[in-house]
Amino acid sequence: MKDITDIIIIGAGACGLFTAINIAERHPDKRILILEKSKEALGKVRISGGGRCNLTNAEPNPREFVKNYPRGHRELLGVFSRFSNKDTIEWFESHKVPLKQEADGRIFPQSNSSQTVIDCFLSLAKKYGIEILYRQNIQSFSYEQDLWMVQAVDTFLGRHLVIATGSNPKIWQQLAILGHTIVPPVPSLFTFATKDSFIEELAGVSKQVSIKLLESQGTPLKVPLIDKQGLLGALLITHWGFSGPAVLKLSAFTARILAELEYKFALQINWLAEADEQLTTQDTLTILQEEKQKHPRKELQNHCPFGLAKKLWIKLVERAGVLPHQLWAALNKGQLHALAKELTASTFSIEDKAPFKEEFVTAGGVSLKEIDFKSFRSKRYSTLYIGGEALDIDAVTGGYNFQNAWSSGYLIAEGVISE
Ligand SMILES: Cc1cc2nc3c(=O)[nH]c(=O)nc-3n(C[C@H](O)[C@H](O)[C@H](O)COP(=O)(O)OP(=O)(O)OC[C@H]3O[C@@H](n4cnc5c(N)ncnc54)[C@H](O)[C@@H]3O)c2cc1C
Repeated sequence: MKDITDIIIIGAGACGLFTAINIAERHPDKRILILEKSKEALGKVRISGGGRCNLTNAEPNPREFVKNYPRGHRELLGVFSRFSNKDTIEWFESHKVPLKQEADGRIFPQSNSSQTVIDCFLSLAKKYGIEILYRQNIQSFSYEQDLWMVQAVDTFLGRHLVIATGSNPKIWQQLAILGHTIVPPVPSLFTFATKDSFIEELAGVSKQVSIKLLESQGTPLKVPLIDKQGLLGALLITHWGFSGPAVLKLSAFTARILAELEYKFALQINWLAEADEQLTTQDTLTILQEEKQKHPRKELQNHCPFGLAKKLWIKLVERAGVLPHQLWAALNKGQLHALAKELTASTFSIEDKAPFKEEFVTAGGVSLKEIDFKSFRSKRYSTLYIGGEALDIDAVTGGYNFQNAWSSGYLIAEGVISE
């Protein structure tokens, strides 16, 4: 049994280290202990963003920023008014981690290496005497006589307990024993696998599209935060199906629905959707009829009026039941309708989810109803704090997941300090 520690943090990940450093900066006298199950800290930070660590996003509007969180968007609006992406940028810059912004808004260390973030955190932990104990896989924790007793290889006693263990089932189980509700975990951020022969020879083709999920009867599924016209974004055709930012985003927003459907569903794609305009089937039919008048002697395969990649256009023509070498003049009414439908609402059977190599997260975790978001304090125990991915909060790619870890860590630190 050890002495009593002021703050015990379980998990030396993004949230755990950020919490510890922000407490120590204002209260170097507090004794902080981090217990980590693996042999090194910040394992996920190391591999994040392809080894570059996409640590936040530059989106300036908080209301737009929170739209990237399928779970947690309501709660995080208030949280970001106290510690935002702008604060994150200032924090890292003022702690000697110069940052850079990419054209799409993602923020990385200027060094292009997650090691810079790790070095920054570990040198600050050393400077402030934050103790990190490795290979301490926490088995259980309990609250008795105003103290937290944490059990791993050794037993530790602390006045405050911070849970920063990411998506760890054992810790969720312990929190459930303490009376917290755990929203069952399901995967988020994945790609869609299909056996449709359409994708053959199209691997590598990328296109701005709009996509929707369909119910078995063919009606679009209503998904909160997703426009009823569909989700607009880049789609990438792969050897196994569909990937790209639009698919990853849809997988995150529909993570729970798709888990219930056991990843068997229909995906509708409008291939004629641009940021400024989405063509409807009727608009497209009108254009096709005009093209028939203007280019009657051309073969379908040699004339695409929509600027699509030739092999994609030919596959869509074939899918509409039209031969690619057919002349425009020979297109009958039924074929024109079928082609307009295929271009704006082609439907694919998705048989399964498939991995996404870069980033994956888990939807689910501690129920947000049981957390006071001023300081990420448990509503059940006044000295228990839960942050980062341990909560039922997750985001799409772009630096938003780490922003949740930084903001929760910062506010936990403020909460602990103010006591
Ligand atoms: C490959 C990959 C790339 C990613 N890239 C990005 C990116 O570029 N940008 C972005 O915003 N997000 C990214 N993410 C998501 C991001 O890494 C997570 O959202 C973030 O790390 C969550 O922080 P956390 O501190 O809550 O949890 P974690 O970083 O997972 O840290 C939890 C820590 O707790 C420890 N732990 C768990 N259980 C126990 C236990 N029982 N006892 C003791 N210790 C325990 C773990 O070992 C770990 O060190 C990526 C994720 C992956 C998998």
